[in-house]
Order: sequence, then C-alpha cells, then structure tokens
Amino acid sequence: MTSLLQQQNIPLFQAMRAVSAALLPVAGEESDRETRILFADALNIKEGALLLNKNEPLPDAAKEKILSMVERRLTGEPLQYILGEWEFMGLPFKVDSRALIPRQDTETLAEAAIALLKKKTGRRVLDMCCGTGCIGISLAVLAGAEVTLADISADALALARENAAWNGINAAFVETDLFSAIKGEYDLIVSNPPYISAKDMETLQKEVRFEPPLALYGGEDGLDLYRRIAADYKAYLAPGGAILLEVGAGEAGDVKALLGEGAYSVKDLCGIDRVVIKNEE
Ligand code: GLN
Repeated sequence: MTSLLQQQNIPLFQAMRAVSAALLPVAGEESDRETRILFADALNIKEGALLLNKNEPLPDAAKEKILSMVERRLTGEPLQYILGEWEFMGLPFKVDSRALIPRQDTETLAEAAIALLKKKTGRRVLDMCCGTGCIGISLAVLAGAEVTLADISADALALARENAAWNGINAAFVETDLFSAIKGEYDLIVSNPPYISAKDMETLQKEVRFEPPLALYGGEDGLDLYRRIAADYKAYLAPGGAILLEVGAGEAGDVKALLGEGAYSVKDLCGIDRVVIKNEE
C-alpha cells in the first residue's frame, strides 16, 4: 500500500482500494467503510463526495495524512481516536484516550432518558461516570436538561468540558468517586459505569485495549459499581425521579435485583437488555 500511495497522481479510487486491502487485518469486513471515513476526513469532504472525485489524483497532503492514520490503525488503535471526533445522538464529540469512545449501544440509554424527561417537569440530570460527557451533553442539547457531569478521572472531566463547550451548553463538573462529592438532588441520574468483569477484561477486542481500563473494569464480576450506586443513589434523587443505568450483556437481571422492585430493562438494537431503569415514588 505504502509504495502504491507514493506513486505520483494515483487516482483516488486506486488509493482507496489499496488502503482498504491494507486495513483488512485490523478492520475485517469494516475495512471499506473505515477507508471511506479516513479518506473523507483527510480530504475534508463528505463521504458521499468521494465517488464524484474518484478519478481525481490524491493530493500530497491528504496522502501523508492517510498514511499516518493507516499506520496508527494497523497497531489496532480505534478509528475514533485517530479521527479525534465521533458522533453520538447525531452530535459531535471529541474523543481520545482520556475516555471511553461513545458507543451506539449507549444511545439506548440516552433515548430512554429523553423519553422520561419529556414526561417530567424537573430537568436536573446527573451523568455519573460521564467520560466524554456524551450522555449528559446530549440530554442538555436534545432535551433541555441542566446537567452535572461527574467522573473520578480529572482527564475525562477535562475532555467532557471541551465537549460541553463544543456543543454550546453549560454544565457543572464534579470530580468524584461516585457520590462522595455529589451534593443536591436530581430528577434523573444516568450512568454508563465500568462494567466489564475480570474474565472478560482478558478477552477484550484489540481496539478496546486502547481505551482507559478505569472506564471498563467493573471488578471481579463486573458489578462493583452497580452495587455502590444502588446503595447510595436514593439520597440524590428528587421525588418522582428516576435512575437509568447502562449494563453489559447478561447483567440486567443482577442490576434489576440490586435496584429492587419496579426496576425494568430496555433492549438495544441488537435485542440485548442494555438499560436498567427504576422510577422512584
Ligand atoms: N460497552 C463497552 C464495551 O463493551 C463497555 C462500557 C462500560 O464498561 N461501561 O466495550
């Protein structure tokens, strides 16, 4: 791929074919899609415009950029970190190794929270373990929530601050180990805490190994953070409030039991129970 790309005036489609083949070992069946995303980014055009320009020569600056992005991707680094930004709920977020990459699965939680906010008058939302801030910030932009973004990681909070500014919203930021530094009460508490078990940490996809273990590891059985959240959250929930927790595959039953009677779950697009919700009286 490198030698082909170094030739002068190689047309875009040929360069894309070479890059897609080079990405196969890391991206597999996603290599064509990742190639389109990388080229659109390097050329600063929309993906749809690639086809229109397919016979144009690839400019040198874009070529250099693509070569260095492909080099990083071949180490297993996730595409999202290489691009430095990714969409969640249709909104842009800066992403880097300070926090977990926003996942589509997590949109299930954001959507459930938006649906609840539509029925409530209170708009105070606490996003516990906020990482990039993607959940809380989406709720602020899309549902007018007044959000508090909380995380144990100062680095993640710095990234969440950048993302709040980028999305033009005001938020409060709290560096805290779960509820230890939280004050006041909220109408919704939302959280995508670390929930990977010790056993599953050993078989993580290569890409996930680039993400902060602090954002992934949930103790021996993956449920440590849910136990602590379940023990403490009620004191921070306003009357009529609700808590929404993202859970890993197979964890919904245990987390419902931790939250007690009335807790229910919502499935993600793959049909996996992904969010556990409990409405308080
Ligand atoms: N959904 C992530 C994964 O499976 C884990 C996120 C989390 O632990 N909260 O890679």
